[in-house]
Amino acid sequence: MRGAVLHAPGDVRIETLDDPEILHPTDAIIRTAVTCVCGSDLWSYRGLDPVREPRTMGHEYVGFVEEVGAGVTAVRPGQFVVGSFATSDNTCAHCRNGYQSHCVQRHVMGTCQADHVRIPNAQGTLVALDDVPGEEFWPGLLAVSDVMGTGWYAAEAAEVRPGSTAVVVGDGAVGLCAVIAAKESGAERIIAMSRHEPRQKLAREFGATDIVTERGDDGVARILDLTDGVGADSVLECVGTPEAMSQALRSARPGGNVGFVGVPHGVAVDGRELFYSHVGLRGGPAPVRRYLPDLIDRVMTSRIDPGKVFDLTVPLDRINEAYAAMDERRAVKALLTP
Ligand SMILES: [Zn+2]
Repeated sequence: MRGAVLHAPGDVRIETLDDPEILHPTDAIIRTAVTCVCGSDLWSYRGLDPVREPRTMGHEYVGFVEEVGAGVTAVRPGQFVVGSFATSDNTCAHCRNGYQSHCVQRHVMGTCQADHVRIPNAQGTLVALDDVPGEEFWPGLLAVSDVMGTGWYAAEAAEVRPGSTAVVVGDGAVGLCAVIAAKESGAERIIAMSRHEPRQKLAREFGATDIVTERGDDGVARILDLTDGVGADSVLECVGTPEAMSQALRSARPGGNVGFVGVPHGVAVDGRELFYSHVGLRGGPAPVRRYLPDLIDRVMTSRIDPGKVFDLTVPLDRINEAYAAMDERRAVKALLTP
């Protein structure tokens, strides 16, 4: 099979790799329909996460089941399936509590920028569609497997309520999907923090009512301005930098909540400041598996179209172009076709 290997920062290649095989009875092998590059892949592509040895890449996938292990009865060969970047048995205590991304059997995917993928815990992880969806739905379903599910969790963690005011920090694919999630959760006012015109436009299309371009102290002042000096009920932090987290915590009102889903890099939260802010804080890798049936339904009924975050399509063999475009912020998110 062909799959992506990151050799060093800035050096990603498609290589011929061993075909995936069923290693455990709970595995499935899928043929990738479409896959993509994640903003979080850029941490290692940029060398901000160390690349000590060549490593395979990718954790987002939708595809066709080719083979299942003896213990997999939930899906069968030929079906079109959506999964999550974190696999789960969907039966342990954490799964039953709705935190499938903390499953005791969790396996975090990292081989999905490829034409075939082995999915561990397939029984609990994969959700099959009744019929093979039209290709026009594939990008939206792919978004559900990570960025849309993550945006959804940001809204849940930030406790977005009907009629509330939500601020979304970050205009990457997750931030844009978080706007969708805030809208679907009933937020009346959605303030998107973005400096990039095409992304502002998409944020508005997804439901943002206001755009704030300022950052830092000015950004906080703008949010207070827009909320009569009170602050936002919910803030969805979708970046993971110290600046973004500070922006988020300072934009929430006393008693408000911050949901943080950007993988933190160098973020430190001051306990004393948090204590006196009265702001609630919850984050982590999104339990995407819990949302899959609902989000798949929203995509297939065209209620939401998170597939619009893909603004570049590149054949898998030219993956370096996809990484470069996202690295240089020429693309929000690149779709890869095997
Ligand atoms: Zn579990």
